[in-house]
Amino acid sequence: MYGEKVKDVTTHPALKVCVDTMALDYECAELPQFKDLANVYDPELKQEISRYYYIPRNGEDLVKATELIIATSTYADGYIPLAKDIGADAINAIQIFANITGNKEYIDRVHNFRQYLMKEDVAIVSAVTDAKGDRLMRPSDPKQVHPDFYPRVVEKNAKGIVVRGAKMHITGSAYSNEIFVIPGRAMTEADKDYAVAFAVPCNAKGLKQICRPIKSGIGSMEFPVDRPWRMHTDQLIIFDDVFVPWERVFMCGEWKQAFLIAHNFSLLHRRTGCAYRIPMSELFVGMAFAIAEYNGVTEVPHIREKLTEAAMYLQTLKSLIRASCLDFVMHGGMPVPNPVTTNIAKYHFADKYHSLVKLIQDISGGSLITKPTYLDWQNPETHGFMDKYVSGMAGTAAEARLRMFDLIRRQLASEYEVMVLHGEGSLMAQRMMILAEAREELKRCKKIADDMAGIK
Ligand SMILES: Cc1cc2nc3c(=O)[nH]c(=O)nc-3n(C[C@H](O)[C@H](O)[C@H](O)COP(=O)(O)OP(=O)(O)OC[C@H]3O[C@@H](n4cnc5c(N)ncnc54)[C@H](O)[C@@H]3O)c2cc1C
Repeated sequence: MYGEKVKDVTTHPALKVCVDTMALDYECAELPQFKDLANVYDPELKQEISRYYYIPRNGEDLVKATELIIATSTYADGYIPLAKDIGADAINAIQIFANITGNKEYIDRVHNFRQYLMKEDVAIVSAVTDAKGDRLMRPSDPKQVHPDFYPRVVEKNAKGIVVRGAKMHITGSAYSNEIFVIPGRAMTEADKDYAVAFAVPCNAKGLKQICRPIKSGIGSMEFPVDRPWRMHTDQLIIFDDVFVPWERVFMCGEWKQAFLIAHNFSLLHRRTGCAYRIPMSELFVGMAFAIAEYNGVTEVPHIREKLTEAAMYLQTLKSLIRASCLDFVMHGGMPVPNPVTTNIAKYHFADKYHSLVKLIQDISGGSLITKPTYLDWQNPETHGFMDKYVSGMAGTAAEARLRMFDLIRRQLASEYEVMVLHGEGSLMAQRMMILAEAREELKRCKKIADDMAGIK
C-alpha cells in the first residue's frame, strides 16, 4: 500500500482505520439494542451464532439479515463494517450449488466450513470479480494475453489444489480473517480449470494483496467533527501459486454449474448492497433537507419538487429491498431475494444516484466550493465577517451552514460538478429566464394549436 510493504495491518495508519471499521460488526453484535438482531441460537452447536452465518429459511430471515446490515451500517455513520455480510452471501451461494448438485463431499465441506465460521465468528470477505483481461474473451481464450486473468487450478494433488491468477477490487481482504474465492461468471468446458471455489486465510502463503489508498479524513480546512473516521480499501489479490487443502475447496472443475454460484451470489449480494445504501441514502436525503432549510428555501416550489424526489428515492429503495426479501424464490432449498426485484432495487439505487447528487448540489448553491475555510473561521480578523455574511435563514447560524457545506462537499461534490452547476447562475435561473424570454414564442405556438383544435 502506498508503494510499501505493510508489516502489520492493525497498526498501519490507513489500514487501522479500515480494521476499526470492520470491527464495528463485532461491537454491534454485543450492544443490548442489537444483540437479538445480530445473534441467533444454533441448536446444533448449542450456542449463539452470528445471524450472518445462520442459514436463512424464509423471507422473514432475509428481512432480518437485511435489517442487521442496515442497523450496523447506521451505527457506522452510514459506512459498512463488512466483516461477514459479503462472506455470508458467498457461502449461501456455494451451499445452493452444493445442494443442487447433491454432491455429498461438497455438502459436507460447506457444512463444516460454516460450522467453523459460526464457532470462531471469523471475518470473511468475497473475491468474485476477476482481473478479466480482454472483457470479450473467455478465461481460457488463447487470444488472452496470458492465461492468469482469472484464478485457475494449476495443480491437483492428494492434499489439495494450487491456484494461480488474480481477483480485483476486493474490499476488506487485506484485514479480514478469510476470503471466499468464487467464479464471477459462467464457464465453458474449455474454462474447466477456472471453475473453482474455495476459502483461504488472508495471510495464506503465496497470496499477495495490493491496496488502493483510502480517502483521507477531515482536513485542517474543514470544520472538525467529533466522530471516528470510517473507511475501507479494496485490493488487487494475486494468487501466486496458493495451496488450498481439499476441505476448503467447494468447486473444482464443474464448469456447467459455475454460473449457479455467480448467479446466486449476485442475487444475495445485490440485496446486501442495497441494505448498505439505505443508511447512506438517509444521510444524503438529510443533507438535502438540512441545506434547503439553512438556505431558507424549503417552501420554494422547485425545491419542494426536489425534496419530494429525494424522499421518493429513499422510500423506493427501502420498499423494493423489503419486497425482494418477502417475495423470495427457493434455489437449492434456500430462499434468495426475488431475482427481478433485487436487481430493480440495485438498478434504482445506482441509476438515480447521480440525479440525487445533482439535486443536492443544486439546492446547496456554489458556496459548496467557494466558501472560506475553517482556518478563516478561526482567524479573529475574518471570523466576524463570516459570522455575519455566511448565515442563512433567520435562526441559522453561519457555523451550521458552513458545517453542512463541508459535509456535502466531502461526501458528494467535486469542484468541477459544482462549478458547472452553479457558475453563471443556478439551473433554475436559466429556466426562469428561458420561460420569460420564450413567452412570445409560446403564444405563437399556442395559436397554432388553437387553430388546429378549431378554437376561435
Ligand atoms: C468500491 C468497489 C468495491 C468492490 N468490492 C468488491 C468486492 O468486495 N468483491 C468483488 O468481487 N468485487 C468487488 N467490486 C467489483 C465490482 O463488482 C466490479 O467493479 C463490477 O462488477 C464491474 O466490473 P469491472 O470493474 O471489472 O468493470 P468492467 O467489467 O471492465 O466493465 C466496464 C464496462 O464495460 C462493460 N463490459 C464489460 N465486459 C463486457 C462484455 N463482455 N460485454 C459487454 N459489455 C461489457 C460493462 O458493462 C461496463 O460498462 C468492487 C467494486 C468497487 C468499485
